[in-house]
Amino acid sequence: MSEKHEVPATDGSRLGLQADCADCFGLCCVALPFAASADFAVNKDAGKPCTNLQDDFRCGIHTRLRDKGFSGCTVFDCFGAGQKVSQVTFGGRSWREAPDTARQMFDVFPVMRQLHELLWYLAEALTLPAARPVHDDLRRAQDGLDALTRQDAAALARVDVAELRHETNALLLRTSELARAGVPGRKKNHRGADLIGAKLKGANLRGANLRGAYLIAADLRNADLRVADLIGADFRNADLSGADLTGSIFLTQAQLNAARGDAATKLPHTLTRPTHW
Ligand code: SF4
Repeated sequence: MSEKHEVPATDGSRLGLQADCADCFGLCCVALPFAASADFAVNKDAGKPCTNLQDDFRCGIHTRLRDKGFSGCTVFDCFGAGQKVSQVTFGGRSWREAPDTARQMFDVFPVMRQLHELLWYLAEALTLPAARPVHDDLRRAQDGLDALTRQDAAALARVDVAELRHETNALLLRTSELARAGVPGRKKNHRGADLIGAKLKGANLRGANLRGAYLIAADLRNADLRVADLIGADFRNADLSGADLTGSIFLTQAQLNAARGDAATKLPHTLTRPTHW
């Protein structure tokens, strides 16, 4: 959440899809609820500012989030939705300046976040040469979603996000198949699999389908995850020390932040090594 992100080097098409907390009214720290757990030290209701949020919309404990019991904040990524809602949808007027629009702003933020997440994946798909047969479809989808993000708040609140996710996912799946087809040999399919705590040290998962797999606390040390589709895979507390994630598809910074790793973990060039590794 606020100020947690290192900004990775990335291609220009994704610049607006990276969190810029300096231009956001701390929306993730207000709009979203959280429950006291291993990830959050306290309960907080949706629409209520976190007690750590300062008057300048910065987090008062951003350098100590893990130590203070707020590791959940370090694995959240708004994909740039926060600054879009703050500066574009609501024209730079904060929920403090205009409390009458606060409720609407908080309702729109999760919608925008999902639209930006889809835009992030589409932008990545368009960087994959193997996906050239679907590049036109990807661009059309990208243009359509981008236009939706520029609607006013009332229209944004009416967006059928589930339907858009469904349509976009079909394109992303096709992209994944095209990209992974270039990997020689039989590829493993662990789509949606329960791999919690799995012992996968040194496993050959090159080109594997790990879409939505539960890899919580899995031992993936020195695993080969090159060109694996990792969209939505849950890497919380998974050990990626020495693993090779080069060329993996649809991996996000938030997924990496939730995992463990070390200096030997090889990352896609668009992502940065989490500071706690
Ligand atoms: S601790 Fe509160 S203010 Fe800080 S990042 Fe988390 S939700 Fe935001």
